[in-house]
Amino acid sequence: MNIPGYDEWKLRGPDEDAVEIGYEYGEVCNRFPEPDEDHPRSYRPRRCTGIMEEVEENVFECNRCGEAVEVEL
Ligand SMILES: [Zn+2]
Repeated sequence: MNIPGYDEWKLRGPDEDAVEIGYEYGEVCNRFPEPDEDHPRSYRPRRCTGIMEEVEENVFECNRCGEAVEVEL
């Protein structure tokens, strides 16, 4: 297989076309939580519904899961 973009397409999850991860102020986080051994076997991770907030200049942090993103100007 040597189709441009094929590997990229193949590696993406089923619903990644529709959902974008939040990186900027006011965007919805949409990250999956870190796997946790305490979760029961049937646990299905849900995307984080937090909102990205500015905690420092150029640093945005999800107000729910705490994921922080530093952006370059
Ligand atoms: Zn989050």
